[in-house]
Amino acid sequence: MEKIKKSDEEWKEELTPEEYRITRKKGTEKPFTGEYLNKKDKGTYTCVCCGLELFSSDTKYDSGSGWPSFTKPVAPDAVETQEDRSFFMERTEAVCPRCGAHLGHVFDDGPQPTGKRYCVNSASLKFVPEK
Ligand code: FE
Repeated sequence: MEKIKKSDEEWKEELTPEEYRITRKKGTEKPFTGEYLNKKDKGTYTCVCCGLELFSSDTKYDSGSGWPSFTKPVAPDAVETQEDRSFFMERTEAVCPRCGAHLGHVFDDGPQPTGKRYCVNSASLKFVPEK
């Protein structure tokens, strides 16, 4: 996959301050505040920064965490994971493989069969309804 590289200044121009803070500075939106938390429409959640398709509404579920949660990415390589040791915690960070946007974190307490919970900031996503 061809990577998208932009400067901080460019991202700042294209994104809202909240989107920039979360996707480019590894921020987190306040729980139970995100635009897509309770969204149940059919469609695809894409990267707010570069438009890459990340998650399908078919795998979205209510985890009770306060953030949109998915059991898996739309394709095996649609979301990249990396170890995150910030804040004295060992967590797995989820990032956009194309532009490096911070999406959220992956936990092992999701429903079967994947057992995964991709806990994602609404601000990192753009929903595209199914046609
Ligand atoms: Fe992206």
